[in-house]
Amino acid sequence: MIRVWIEPREACVSEMVCVVLCPEVFEISRDDGKAVVKPQWRSSEGGWGLVSDDLEDCVVAAYENCPVEIIRWVRVNVEEGESQRSR
Ligand code: SF4
Repeated sequence: MIRVWIEPREACVSEMVCVVLCPEVFEISRDDGKAVVKPQWRSSEGGWGLVSDDLEDCVVAAYENCPVEIIRWVRVNVEEGESQRSR
């Protein structure tokens, strides 16, 4: 699984690169106009989401192209609770 979050979210400039490159994972919040992880992936604990491995390329594309470099992700092994790779 891929854990993904946006930090610091206040720095988001809302030009939607992540939404265009990875609409399966990111959307623009109607509350403040900044990017968020879509509700279906979002943890109840807060702003991060846990998405399936097949969306890694999509998440990485958003990560690599966010102009303010605030998209974070880490590959996690849910069964072992360990992070295997992070950026
Ligand atoms: S690519 Fe970065 S700055 Fe642009 S909307 Fe997404 S999180 Fe915000």
